[in-house]
Amino acid sequence: MKCINTQQNIMPYINRTLSDAQMFSFLEHIECCEVCRDELETYYMFYMGYNRLETFEEPESYDLKGRLKKELRQMRKYSRTSMVLSTVKNIFSGMAATVCVMLLADYILGKI
Ligand SMILES: [Zn+2]
Repeated sequence: MKCINTQQNIMPYINRTLSDAQMFSFLEHIECCEVCRDELETYYMFYMGYNRLETFEEPESYDLKGRLKKELRQMRKYSRTSMVLSTVKNIFSGMAATVCVMLLADYILGKI
């Protein structure tokens, strides 16, 4: 994912509207690109700061940078797991489709 795409995905990331694949690429890019990480931090601080004013959260949650770091770590773990699971699911559904086609072919050929 390029910087421009990553930066366009910052608000969808904060709002949790990215797909699993988008989330994975987004987090991979954020991990190694300081420019986009800074950009995310700025948006996150602004957005969470604004939300905090609205909801009067506890003082311990004021460490927004620390909170974002922790959140990114958890999201990366979750994102990697869900990417692995969806790859495994795709492999299995691909295998199941192949088996179905083979059974169908056997059935048709057996009938002829
Ligand atoms: Zn970048």
